[in-house]
Amino acid sequence: MSRTSSSSSPPARRVQLSDALGALKDRISRACAVAGRDPSELTVIAVTKYFPASDAALLADLGVSDLGENRDQEAAAKAAQVAELTDAPVRWHFVGQLQKNKARSVARYASAVHSVDRPELVSALDRAVARLDRSPLDVLIQLSLDDDPNRGGVAAADFAALCDEAAGAAHLNLAGLMAVAPMDADPDRAFARVAEFAATLRAEHPAATSVSAGMSGDLEAAVRHGATHLRIGTALLGRRPHTFG
Ligand SMILES: *Cc1c(COP(=O)(O)O)cnc(C)c1O
Repeated sequence: MSRTSSSSSPPARRVQLSDALGALKDRISRACAVAGRDPSELTVIAVTKYFPASDAALLADLGVSDLGENRDQEAAAKAAQVAELTDAPVRWHFVGQLQKNKARSVARYASAVHSVDRPELVSALDRAVARLDRSPLDVLIQLSLDDDPNRGGVAAADFAALCDEAAGAAHLNLAGLMAVAPMDADPDRAFARVAEFAATLRAEHPAATSVSAGMSGDLEAAVRHGATHLRIGTALLGRRPHTFG
């Protein structure tokens, strides 16, 4: 019998998360039906930032094995707590802006970093993984769709060179690209652009097939344009207490 978090968490929360997960799966199924895609092509990453480790563990127990966080301090603590709360398999995805002095910490718990956006971060992560006894770290290059440096991402003009750099790093595995649709922009236009960059990336690096695009508000558009990974916070966990990420 595996340890589960359900005994220590209010059953009501488990029901809430289970209902939200059911509704999300329905939404993804409908989006896939419209787009002529198979839902099995999509991985849901539950972005648990600002929510307690008990929620993350409940989601893992409900079969959501991919969890995401956007700040190292919160993520490192939560990853350790979740490992105590459940035996369910968990992969952590780091999706937030990352300072290179946090590379070592992130490399300890993350399976993938979606927000690689500059050469210094490629080399810092590569060095960090080299020092640890672990498998190569999946990295996705974050493409900026609005050239707003505050929101992270590499400028379109520098995207290909950064992909080549990550592909050449001995301890990293270039898995694909990530993008966040600009606020107040048409997500269809944004994700159509992502799809073009994904195609050129695959032409150069055929194994780099991951397309991390789509959040609670725009997942249908992301599915239409070939997303493989959806980063879902609000639609699963509810509204965050305060948001700046
Ligand atoms: C918080 C966050 C998400 C989830 O956003 P929701 O709109 O709540 O689904 C996705 N991606 C990144 C990078 C985030 O920081």
